[in-house]
Amino acid sequence: MKEIITIVKQDLVSNKDTEQVIKKIKTLTEKKFGLEEFAVFLKKEDYLLSMQKNEKIDLLTDDERLTKRFIQGKPFKKDKNEIFIPITNKKELIGAVRIKSSTKLNGKIHDLEIISTLIGLIIIQNELNYNIVKKYKDLELLYKISSEIIKTIKLDELLQKTINLIRETFGYDNIAILLLDENYILSIKRSTKGFNKKEIKLSIQKGEGITGLAGKLRKVIISNDVKKDKRYIEGNEKTKAEIAIPLLYNGKLLGVLDIESNKKNTFSDEDTKILQSVAGLLSGAVENALLYKKMEELAEKDELTGLYNYRVFRRELSKEVSRAKRYGKVFSLAMFDIDFFKEYNDNNGHDVGNIALKKVGAILKKESRFTDLPARFGGEEFIVILPETGKDGAFKYAERVRKKVEETKFPGEEKQPNGKLTISGGVAEFPVDGDTPEQILKAVDIAAYKAKNSGRNCIAKYNGDTRR
Ligand code: GH3
Ligand code: MG
Ligand code: MG
Repeated sequence: MKEIITIVKQDLVSNKDTEQVIKKIKTLTEKKFGLEEFAVFLKKEDYLLSMQKNEKIDLLTDDERLTKRFIQGKPFKKDKNEIFIPITNKKELIGAVRIKSSTKLNGKIHDLEIISTLIGLIIIQNELNYNIVKKYKDLELLYKISSEIIKTIKLDELLQKTINLIRETFGYDNIAILLLDENYILSIKRSTKGFNKKEIKLSIQKGEGITGLAGKLRKVIISNDVKKDKRYIEGNEKTKAEIAIPLLYNGKLLGVLDIESNKKNTFSDEDTKILQSVAGLLSGAVENALLYKKMEELAEKDELTGLYNYRVFRRELSKEVSRAKRYGKVFSLAMFDIDFFKEYNDNNGHDVGNIALKKVGAILKKESRFTDLPARFGGEEFIVILPETGKDGAFKYAERVRKKVEETKFPGEEKQPNGKLTISGGVAEFPVDGDTPEQILKAVDIAAYKAKNSGRNCIAKYNGDTRR
């Protein structure tokens, strides 16, 4: 007895592997008391599961009165050689010990009850430790996320970091952060590899899928067995459970945090609580990052036309020169200037002039490819970077723009010297017409000037002249 108590004491202090300690007690007890078996069981939902083997015993016997007494702490004698001793923590049953013996047990029961109580203590302490460690880990995650978030203003980086942290802490299989667009469609902005359908689009108005539903209802939706859940839309065939948490900022829906697991019943109440805190932190950070992105966009665009501003043009021109140099590629610049625009302003007023500028800007945007970079160069001058385009290609493009402007109706344009609002332009190619940002800019300016001198409403190619 003393030996067993010493082991228990040691374990309570040192927190060794609980199962190992219980096994040691089992072996020792069997030997000391000459038992056939001393088996420890843990209580699961409505059965007892043995710790040593995978043996299951239903909790309810035929005699309900005996069962009740057992649950309340009274040993249950199956026959004179087999007895069950309950393990309880004041409030409820947490397990049991089954003792089998070929000799009479009567005199030994008291001591065996004490040993069972000690085992109970070990189990309870182990559980307590587990919960404390888990709580600590949860706090650590929240702390990490909040401190990472403070540092991260770039949206992509923020989402990736959050996904990594959740994955490291919980080990879930697939994690995705979806954001809402102006058409109330949720799309994946960042995810782990497990999301096969990267292009997934979910309508929140229709509440599509568990994710869409969480967005629509603005509530956490948990499905711990997706194969039996009609709301579930399959994205990965291994997925067995899913949780979707809306990202809300001051009541506004920003998106949904979606997590999948390859195991059923993964999402416990505790996990849900902590994930909700994470989602709360994330929402604030996403709102900030979106605002920052908008601000950055504003800083890059010309307010009147919505085209890129001069600063961005110069930055991108430098990049394009380096890129073209490194890869031995060409690119062209096209420059445009509105003809007799001073006169247009004088005749129609500055505000009407502004409308005309906007219109020309819109034409430029419409005629440019995705990879082109149209910018407002200043006043009534525009410039476009045309990557991987030679001078002939650039000329065709510039002619198309010129023609579009010529064909477009502008209010009051009939008073213009040639009866219409028109533009003139020039094109130059890198590196033949200039191999630095300054030189290629100078070349295109000379070409545009030449167009002005050739009667306006036309495009000129740079032809090697070094002066305007
Ligand atoms: P040219 O055919 O030689 O280009 O003649 P122009 O009158 O267009 O050339 P000039 O450079 O003499 O005049 C440019 C005019 O563009 C002068 C200025 O009032 C007008 N302008 C520049 N920026 C703006 C703007 O933001 N809004 C408006 N409404 N007008 C602008
Ligand atoms: Mg001008
Ligand atoms: Mg002009």
